[in-house]
Amino acid sequence: MTKTVIRGGDIVVWHDGGHAIMPGGNVVIEGDTIVSVSRDDPGQADVTIDAIGKLVSPGFINCHVHAGIDTQVLMTDKGAHGYYNSGMVFAGASAETMGSRGPTLSGEERRVAGLYPIIELLKSGVTTFFDIGGSIGDVDVFGELVGESGVRAYVGHGFEQATWVLDAETGAFRYHQHRESGIEGFKRGVRFVEEHDGDHNGRLRGAIVPAKLDNLTPELLKEAQAAAESLDVPITIHAAQAGYEFHEMIRRVARTPIQFLADLELLTPRLILGHCIYVAGHRLTAMPPGDDLRLIAQGGSSVAHSAVVFARRGIAMESFQRYLDAGVRMTFGSDTLPRDMLQEMRLASYLCKVVDSDWSAAHTRDLFNAATVKGAEALGRGDLGKIAPGAKADIFVADLRKFHIGPVIDPILALVHEANASDIDTVLVDGKVVIEGGQHTSIDHDWLLTTAEEIGRKQRASIAARDWKGRAEDEIILQTFPILA
Ligand SMILES: [Zn+2]
Repeated sequence: MTKTVIRGGDIVVWHDGGHAIMPGGNVVIEGDTIVSVSRDDPGQADVTIDAIGKLVSPGFINCHVHAGIDTQVLMTDKGAHGYYNSGMVFAGASAETMGSRGPTLSGEERRVAGLYPIIELLKSGVTTFFDIGGSIGDVDVFGELVGESGVRAYVGHGFEQATWVLDAETGAFRYHQHRESGIEGFKRGVRFVEEHDGDHNGRLRGAIVPAKLDNLTPELLKEAQAAAESLDVPITIHAAQAGYEFHEMIRRVARTPIQFLADLELLTPRLILGHCIYVAGHRLTAMPPGDDLRLIAQGGSSVAHSAVVFARRGIAMESFQRYLDAGVRMTFGSDTLPRDMLQEMRLASYLCKVVDSDWSAAHTRDLFNAATVKGAEALGRGDLGKIAPGAKADIFVADLRKFHIGPVIDPILALVHEANASDIDTVLVDGKVVIEGGQHTSIDHDWLLTTAEEIGRKQRASIAARDWKGRAEDEIILQTFPILA
């Protein structure tokens, strides 16, 4: 068994039920597991990582990822009335054009669409992520890439029984129903878990992913929940993520999205709620405060908060602190590029402090916990999110001796509020070094970047191909400044 030692770093060590800092300590790893954290002489090792003067942190757990080459940044500064201020899609499809859902990618491009986000996540210190379902089209291929890259992941096949579309005449928002294909998708999802859960020394775990609360029948939601229970895997859903979704559920069943899930008995500790911004009492719901947060806390479900993607659309959670105070388990997800947990934590903190007009809100301790041990709890994992004997050796090493950080007096404040993802130089998953000097140990970054550019061009073209109004690329994309010929 390989013995690895991370030597002399300032370690975020698990101590007395919480994170603490051990300056100048050694982490000893045997195989995939941490065996000791102390200042004792670690003895001889097969692999030694010099961490003197650096921060040694548990890897981040990102609970909401959409794998693929993401172009959501194009939505910035734009919107469509049909989607309220959610701006979910700046150029939606109609029922007629939705068939052309994405660009045709070559086999190599599909590999890159899967590998790119994985490498990006690893480089930013994420050692475990939860992919929200089949974003690159073929979840089996994605499972193989998890194996190849060395990351730890929860992966499911996303399914839904309706698609958000815009009316081809008016541009009004519509639900286009396709119930049977959603049931087929659910069955594929179950098959994926049965075939792949536990692959790659347990680094690949399955998950059940009913994609969007408003696009599924109560019957299939119940079935999905039962499948997650019997397969013993997590389940995640986009819920309370949009104004039109909130009001659609009020119109359909006179319940908020969260009340609807509570009625179906879906709010269990197994469930991770993607986004969960539109709870009763949020100013954009036009609804007085209700019992949504209490229901989530009572059920023991978790929220994966993605501050960046919503802030770009003018939306903030109200508020991170209010959810914590209600007893809701808060975790982070990145949703979009950059898939950068440091940026997510920082923005979540500042938006919360502003929304609450309170400097003490969204304390850095709670942000760091959400990005580590709370994410682990959400996945039902006592062996992740902490540096402790018996835990999996999922760890990153950050060099905080940088101009943009300055003197490091409190290393967690420095990391969360001043550092960049590029300050993370070494990442281990399952005891194995996968990022060294900021680079993946076996996958070529130039190849990923060059191929991603090509995929981006194809995606740009496909946005026009499925536009409800049949507009040309340049009419939809609206560059910030004109591009000269
Ligand atoms: Zn999402």
